[in-house]
Amino acid sequence: MRPFAYDRAGDVGEASRLGRDTGQGQTSARTQFLAGGTTLIDLMKLDVLRPEQVIDINPLEARHSAIEAGPEGLSLGALARMSAAADHAAVRRDYPAVAQALDQAASAQLRNMATLGGNLLQRTRCPYYRDTSWSACNKRQPGSGCAAVTAVNRNHAVLGVNGGCISQYPGDLAVALIALDAELELEGGRVRRLPLAELHRPPGDRPDLETNLEAGEVITAIRVPAGPWTRRSLYLKVRDRASYEFAIASAAVALDLDGGRVRQARIGLGGMAYRPWRAREAEAMLVGQPLTRELAEAAAREALKGAVTHGGNDYKPELGRRTLVRALLQAQRLEV
Ligand code: FAD
Ligand code: SF4
Repeated sequence: MRPFAYDRAGDVGEASRLGRDTGQGQTSARTQFLAGGTTLIDLMKLDVLRPEQVIDINPLEARHSAIEAGPEGLSLGALARMSAAADHAAVRRDYPAVAQALDQAASAQLRNMATLGGNLLQRTRCPYYRDTSWSACNKRQPGSGCAAVTAVNRNHAVLGVNGGCISQYPGDLAVALIALDAELELEGGRVRRLPLAELHRPPGDRPDLETNLEAGEVITAIRVPAGPWTRRSLYLKVRDRASYEFAIASAAVALDLDGGRVRQARIGLGGMAYRPWRAREAEAMLVGQPLTRELAEAAAREALKGAVTHGGNDYKPELGRRTLVRALLQAQRLEV
């Protein structure tokens, strides 16, 4: 690990002042915030992230970790630990997709340490990104190429990719949150709201720029609006082993039903895409229709229709379709 300066921020203002070089989440940022450290310290030990300055934002936990549910919706402090949100009674009852996404992420020890804000900003698990002996990785080393396109890419993304980077967004929570129209509260030089759907950038020609955060911005809270679909929501995760593993496919589904007919549908996909993925065209196909298996299959085909594969991940579109069909039919059967 390389030497770095360590500072502790007493409040958000101090954090964003000290963190003015955090950039847009890029690997080369000179400054990184330290929350639970379960992504940051890992990547510093691997010599992938090389911050000159680490700003500990854990003192912000006192003011930015509350979990509150009310008529307007759910508010999650960004410094709340994953386990605290997963265990919260109102989250489990009224926003089950959120609780399930958290429960199935990482391990118990990691969930006790890791924060919600840090979880959203976790980095790809692409092995060529995480191993600096590989020279071609546009995300780690802009302009160097992408080793994964022609090498081992079983876990890589099929949606939202281009030839410059096919890495998969690995998190679970963001998939549930994008389906539920979550917004982020940010504080930097100013306070602003950002839809979660706009947090992560597409690869474009700069896959090293990962987010639309401004330099020094701290995520302080996550807001999930109330809606008649949140109780009938679930998160279905498919992985190579039953626990302590990232998704190879996942679906977050929320439905508002009128008898057997779909009034409104919300769909997020994980394990499939470069960034947390909302399947709006598939949602539109469901609205106003009785939710049959045939309709769920048609919506799943629509959701994966833009998939681009690279050999090792040829299996993914079919797995993604089947995962979504299962999630939709399970959500339909929920007793709410
Ligand atoms: P940190 O490591 O402290 O920070 C991560 C990044 O976010 C840093 O760049 C930091 O600067 C920035 N940051 C943190 N908080 C803020 C904030 N409030 N505002 C602005 N920037 C901020 N995740 C899953 O979803 N599913 C899994 O199955 C899963 N499995 C895992 C297995 C292992 C072995 C490990 C190590 C991790 C796994 N994870 C999984 C990822 C884990 O959940 C994340 O590492 C964790 O949530 C990150 O949170 P943190 O608080 O530790 O972030
Ligand atoms: Fe790097 Fe992205 Fe290619 Fe992986 S997929 S090697 S992260 S450029």
